[in-house]
Amino acid sequence: MYIEISRYTDRLKDVYERLDSAYDELALKYDGFSCNGCEKVCCDRVFIHFTLIEHFHLLEGFRKLSPEKRESVLERAEEYNRGFSETAHPEENFRMLCPLCEENRCILYPYRPLLCRVYGLPGVLRKQTGEPLGFPGCWRFQDLHGEVSEPLDRTAFFSEVAGIEKELREKLTYFQRYRKTVAQMILDEKRKDGLIMRTYDFFEGY
Ligand code: SF4
Ligand code: SF4
Repeated sequence: MYIEISRYTDRLKDVYERLDSAYDELALKYDGFSCNGCEKVCCDRVFIHFTLIEHFHLLEGFRKLSPEKRESVLERAEEYNRGFSETAHPEENFRMLCPLCEENRCILYPYRPLLCRVYGLPGVLRKQTGEPLGFPGCWRFQDLHGEVSEPLDRTAFFSEVAGIEKELREKLTYFQRYRKTVAQMILDEKRKDGLIMRTYDFFEGY
């Protein structure tokens, strides 16, 4: 089966662009809050990602790295995944820098997933019932601003990504659960039984 993944990743990029603008606009209200100068970046936290579409998008960026850089990221991903797999309840107990973090910066910043994009500012996500789920913002935001009344509403952006994901999965007849760290996404490039993408433009089997 051949599918032009770019038809889906282009739409994802559009959502990301609008989300980044909304984030920057809100950050201005909080003294231009940004990650610049952060002494303890949050990229050592375990973030779990749930969508194939973000997987394809992240790997699009990964494939643009030089072969040497890809090799060093893969080595770090192996190490990360070893630690992650050997830790009980890793989401709470495991801390290691993401394999894409170098000198406190994300080397695939334009390709980073949704959760990495929204993590700094306080946010709200409304369930279908309308019930809000609140996020207080990263440790640094809370240190600087405490509790605030205007969070970033993530709902529309997350729903749009979920919509793209649904269409993609239907096209691929891929309905198994997807739940991976960035390290695991990257390691899938090497695994024969992982998601197999032979070129950027096509998806072939899984
Ligand atoms: S993908 Fe980038 S922003 Fe996200 S945790 Fe990894 S290094 Fe940090
Ligand atoms: S989101 Fe917050 S904790 Fe993470 S790097 Fe930015 S300022 Fe630091």
